[in-house]
Amino acid sequence: MSLASKLVRKAGDLGLYQFARLLTANTPRILMYHRFAAEAEPGYVSRERFREQVAYIKKYYHPMTLQDLSTCLFDTGKVPRYAIVITVDDGYRDFHDVAWPVLKELDVPATLFVTTGFVDGRLWLWPDQISWLFAQLEGPNTAFKYRDFELAEGEVGRNPGKTWQRVIDRLLSVPDAEKHEFIAALASTWQTPVPATPPPAYAPCSWDQLVDMQNQGIEIGGHTVTHPTLGQVSREQAVAEVAGCKAMLADNLPQNPRTFCYPNGMPSDFSTELMKVVEETGFDCAVAAFADNAAMKHRYALRRHSGAQDWFQFHKAVSGVEYLGQVFRGNAAEHR
Ligand SMILES: [Zn+2]
Repeated sequence: MSLASKLVRKAGDLGLYQFARLLTANTPRILMYHRFAAEAEPGYVSRERFREQVAYIKKYYHPMTLQDLSTCLFDTGKVPRYAIVITVDDGYRDFHDVAWPVLKELDVPATLFVTTGFVDGRLWLWPDQISWLFAQLEGPNTAFKYRDFELAEGEVGRNPGKTWQRVIDRLLSVPDAEKHEFIAALASTWQTPVPATPPPAYAPCSWDQLVDMQNQGIEIGGHTVTHPTLGQVSREQAVAEVAGCKAMLADNLPQNPRTFCYPNGMPSDFSTELMKVVEETGFDCAVAAFADNAAMKHRYALRRHSGAQDWFQFHKAVSGVEYLGQVFRGNAAEHR
């Protein structure tokens, strides 16, 4: 029997996901989560679904923190088969309230990337301010115009998800000052002042909660001070964001942060120069927010797969089906 037919037979015997898992046993996977909720709702992973996913990971994989994976990859050179890392971005309180009890119960480690200014109560994340403004509307929105961007009267009510995405897409590519100007203009047009600190639905973990979780095995990594898209700020600002975040985590937590996550995390958000900044700040490694065939190749831009409420996406990411597809298609987001 040819190798190809042996492989096909094996694939049939095992099922696609288990076969992909076997083929990619030596390529670690890093999963990326954001928000959790007690019950299923769009944009969140529910407690029950997360529990199923963590139990699945525990059964078939070797879960570890990013710091431990980094040691295996870059120091000892000995990476366990089926290595996987659960990462969660931003530092929302729902990680503490929903995900953490599940991880604790099943004794599975994870890495939480924290935006320190958010935890410190100095800001809330701008996409959340847009969501909150949308949620405050009691009837059709009045028309809004900011530079070249227009929202028609009643547009939010007609298609909330799509309109929200259109606003986010418009703001992602502009500097933070312009984002804030846009939000202030929208809030003023709709006569709905945005509170200085986030309402409970968008609240961060407290420092005490982070200390408690770190003491019990959750790795806390850096995610800047104010969550800017680093590709859009000066080198000086980028250094202040990365180093300021590291210093604040070190001051407030028992253990020093060792790993870093780029806000937004797309190829334009971490140049070679930015990767150097992160390295020189003393972080051991850093993660991007997309996956391609480079996987674990770049220490300061390790690829991540989206964890999700959806079982299909979860299995595709975890099993290696997504990664294998990228390898076969020669899919590289960028040469770095
Ligand atoms: Zn983030």
